Amino acid sequence: MKRIENTEKETKQLLNAYRNLLKACKTVVSKDDKKSIKEAFKLASESHKGMRRKSGEAYIFHPVEVATICAKEIGLGATSIICALLHDVVEDTDVTIEDIEDKFGKKVADIIHGLTKISGIVGKSNSLQAENFRKIILTLAEDVRVILIKIADRLHNMRTLDSVNRTSQLKIASETMVIFAPLAHRLGMYSIKSELEDLSLKFTNPKMFKEISRKIQESKYQRNRYIRKFIIPIENSLKKNKFKFDIKGRPKSIFSVYNKMMKQDIPFEQVYDLFAIRIILDSPPETEKADCWRVYSIVTDHYKPNPERLRDWLSTPKANAYESLHTTVMGPNGKWMEVQIRSRRMHEIAEKGYAAHWKYKEDSKSDKGLDEWLTRIRELLENPEPNAIDFLEEFKLNFFSDEVFVFSPKGDIYNLPVNSTALDFAFAVHSDIGSKCIGAKVNHKLVPLSYKIINGDQVEIITSKKQKPNEDWLNFVVTAKAKTRIKHTLKDEKRKTAQFGKELLERKFKHLHLKFDNSIIDKLAKQYSLNSSLELFYQIGIEKISNISLNKSIKLLKEFLATNGKAAEISTNIDTVPAKKSKKVKASRPDLILIGDDDTDLEYSFAKCCNPIPGDDIFGFITIGGGIKIHRTNCPNGIRLMSNYGYRIIKAKWSVPVISDKKTFPAGIKVTGIDSLGIVSKITEAISNDLKVNMQSITINAKHGAFEGFIILKISDTKHLEELLESIKRIQGIENVSRFQVEETLESN
Ligand code: MN
Repeated sequence: MKRIENTEKETKQLLNAYRNLLKACKTVVSKDDKKSIKEAFKLASESHKGMRRKSGEAYIFHPVEVATICAKEIGLGATSIICALLHDVVEDTDVTIEDIEDKFGKKVADIIHGLTKISGIVGKSNSLQAENFRKIILTLAEDVRVILIKIADRLHNMRTLDSVNRTSQLKIASETMVIFAPLAHRLGMYSIKSELEDLSLKFTNPKMFKEISRKIQESKYQRNRYIRKFIIPIENSLKKNKFKFDIKGRPKSIFSVYNKMMKQDIPFEQVYDLFAIRIILDSPPETEKADCWRVYSIVTDHYKPNPERLRDWLSTPKANAYESLHTTVMGPNGKWMEVQIRSRRMHEIAEKGYAAHWKYKEDSKSDKGLDEWLTRIRELLENPEPNAIDFLEEFKLNFFSDEVFVFSPKGDIYNLPVNSTALDFAFAVHSDIGSKCIGAKVNHKLVPLSYKIINGDQVEIITSKKQKPNEDWLNFVVTAKAKTRIKHTLKDEKRKTAQFGKELLERKFKHLHLKFDNSIIDKLAKQYSLNSSLELFYQIGIEKISNISLNKSIKLLKEFLATNGKAAEISTNIDTVPAKKSKKVKASRPDLILIGDDDTDLEYSFAKCCNPIPGDDIFGFITIGGGIKIHRTNCPNGIRLMSNYGYRIIKAKWSVPVISDKKTFPAGIKVTGIDSLGIVSKITEAISNDLKVNMQSITINAKHGAFEGFIILKISDTKHLEELLESIKRIQGIENVSRFQVEETLESN
């Protein structure tokens, strides 16, 4: 790395940044702490001296900014601030962990060690991101501050992501979406979570990001007027009742608007709840709950509540410590409006998460909810799940989903992920109870084991000594604990049965004077389309493969081996990943796509899941076979690929000028509208006659006077597509037209 000394201007800026940091932690730290912070700042400045970031900025600004985020936005104390200042020192400079321990003590050294370990995991690109995630969670189980500082580090990197190259942007942004935003959410850091999501979207789908932010901006005036109108009567009543409060309209994040548009497949204009009203009370802890309910009563005096949309997280806070009272009421002009009511203390926890608890007592580890969470994480980690992707899915399901609260017959409360069954509950109580479970009573009524429990259920488990877990259970349990225990028992059983099958097969081989050798066994397994010898032994053990069939197969195999000599050249090794981009240069057709940093002309094909057309934002993905698939950057499949296989992403762009005018691409559009006589012919006529576009297919479903149509057109680029969408929109009876992904197939690699 080239070292360039700080300029005078930079020294001044740095001093400002440092003062800013001190200001942010003013309320938190003692005099001694301040001394240590200063020391840490000095050590960081000296050891990063002359180093620069990709943007050209002096490196030291990064740790100072990260520390400021820790203090100001997460509310962490002195230890964390010191660690944040030093977080890159051990990895990037000559300073060692021992040096840090000498100067700042063991705790700081431990946390920095954890942070160094994580950055060894994230960012080094040769292993699965999901596996990385697992490792991150392991370090989280050591000291949560490691993760909190790592999140701050990531937030600052995302804020400054403009200066890195496009490939890294995509990789870092999608990793943020898959790993860091959910983590921040789970730790209850709502404002950081939504900023991370927004920034991710900004880089993975810049067009959409800009469009939504512009539209939110444009509708601001109207929205504010509506909010005023809504708030005034409530404000007056609250004042009359002598409440001290803040009330305002809070806009939804760009990402959550985007998410809603995608999930419900609607345009921006149809996303109605762009904002919520938030009332924050300055009430002391003794009366805060009662006050929230009084405010609820005032709000619903003015506006009628939707009884199904009352969310009471006052009585039972969410597992991530979130406390608040939400209701949805009917506002002026017949619009539903969400109102969130909470105290100042609850608000701080909601924004900053668990860390807010530590603001004044940073060493307190007596946080019950968090401890429970960590215990569950440890349980999940004990699960020897070999597949990292499964692990990630499981983890998300168990730790980021909403929860239901249920009671044991004695009145103990248990919280489980939404969609948990009675059997999951049994395993949550104790794995022995789960394993021996034969039935359950919910609210004194007998229900099947697969019964999905709901909030407030009282669940009683009926057990029998003779019961043991069976394969079918895996079809409906959702919690990691239940799955792990069931699989574990099944595996044991299976192993026993397989051992039996193996012995049987061995005898047969001996009888025919065949060598009992791995490559031959594999061959036999293949004849039954089984992918392991264990599976073969098991199938024999349970007699799914009959004796007659087995004898026949072995005979065939023996004949085959006799004619083909030793025939051990059974090549089975097919799943080796090519190490690097295949530099196969393609011969024919002038190329549409340029690949890599040096715009090479490589072999590629278009991904079927998102069918890119010229003008779309795209990237290349190196497949197992070595070919390159071109995806749209906003392809849902693509996001998954980017975050799991970041190292196989390669930059791709459309060559300019894009194409010869004859080349067309399939693009799917979805139209909805009112089902009137001849609407299909109106649409097809408009498309093929007026617009002169070829249709590949059209499907129209009409129902209750409305219709939904999917049309695949052959078009030349995004500009062409946009013109087309505009024209179709003008056809009478059409309500909405939008592009959709042509095929929803999941390509695994
Ligand atoms: Mn860093």
